[in-house]
This record gives sequence, structure tokens and C-alpha cells, in this order.
Amino acid sequence: MTERTHSSESETACGCKLGRVATEYELPNLDDELVTYWTGDGDEQLSTRQLATYVNQRVLEAALEDANILLKDGEIENTYRLLTDDDVSSGTQVQTRNELERDGVPIDQVESNFVSHQTVYNHLTDCLAATLETPSDDERVERSADKLGALQNRTEAVTTDTVAQLERNDILDIGEFNVTVSVTVTCEDCLQEYPIRTLLDERSCDCQDSSADETR
Ligand SMILES: [Zn+2]
Ligand SMILES: [Zn+2]
Repeated sequence: MTERTHSSESETACGCKLGRVATEYELPNLDDELVTYWTGDGDEQLSTRQLATYVNQRVLEAALEDANILLKDGEIENTYRLLTDDDVSSGTQVQTRNELERDGVPIDQVESNFVSHQTVYNHLTDCLAATLETPSDDERVERSADKLGALQNRTEAVTTDTVAQLERNDILDIGEFNVTVSVTVTCEDCLQEYPIRTLLDERSCDCQDSSADETR
């Protein structure tokens, strides 16, 4: 299968290893496949580890095809296993590599193009971030609330420690105490104040009469 689709040329390849490898071995649909498998849009959802194996098997396949080796069913998976699996004896591994060399596969080079699960992860999250599903407004609000909540808890904890320490050193006098951190946002248009959580829930000041995006 040596389809050379011209669409691959218009694709903006990222600079990372996976991008370079995909370009070198002409795997134009790889990005789509990775995203589909990773997000579970298709039937199955694969981990980045499984995806790395998938990528490397595609690379191996392309290399064997370049060497005009006729592939039997399951041969790629089996050859990849013989090359990489820890359970395979080093003797078998050497033999497999020698056979591939003899058949005209530059196996050193091919193996140096194998990617790690970390590379796959970085490629998905950094290079392909735009193609991945963007979070909904609700999700973004929730994430923001979590972040601010954690910050609030941390401020409370640090304040409690600080007061307690000053008290222990007789620098400060107080009975049993309680620290509360509350963050208030004031609308400068109408001077209405909102606890941050309320503002996140309502997502608009009363004075801002834009029921514009009621995205649910
Ligand atoms: Zn990349
Ligand atoms: Zn207002």
C-alpha cells in the first residue's frame, strides 16, 4: 500500500519527534488516528503506551514495505514483539535484527525512530491540542472553581499556621480561632459585590443584561 496522498504536504508537521517520524514514513492519517484512539471517539480507547506501540508498528510496517518485504498477517506485531519485548531472549532479538538487515531494512535507523509513550503524550497535548475537544464552558468554570478553591484552602492553612506560631511565641494573643478566606469580586459598573463562587455560578453580574450565551 504505497498511497502517497498529497494532502500530507499541506499538513503543518510539528517539530517533535513523532511529527518528524510521521512525515518521514509518510503516515498522513496518524494524527487523526491517535486523537481518535486517545479520546475514545472510536470503539476503543487506548493509553499513550498502547499508542506508542501502535505508532512504532506503523513505522516498522512502513520500513518493511520500503524494503519490499511481503507482509504476512500478524507479522508486524510479531516482529515488533521480537524486537522490543523484554521476555524475548537477546539471542532471538539479535537474530531478528540480523534477518531484517539482510532483507534490506535499516533496523538501527528504524529503531531510533521508535517513539516513547511520553513523546506520544506530548504530541497529543502540545502539538495537537487544537484538534482535541475543547472543554465546555461548564467544565472550564468547574476547573476554575477547583483551582481557586485549592488556593483558598491553602491560604487558610498558611494563615492558621502563621497565627498559631505567633501565638506560641507570645507575640500574638487570641483564643480558639478560625480562619476564613473569602474572595469577593466587585463589578465596577454597578458596585455589586459577589463572592467568587456566586459569580462563577451565575456567570454574569445582574447589571450585564446579556443572556447572550446560554450554552448548556
Ligand atoms: Zn508533535
Ligand atoms: Zn454590575
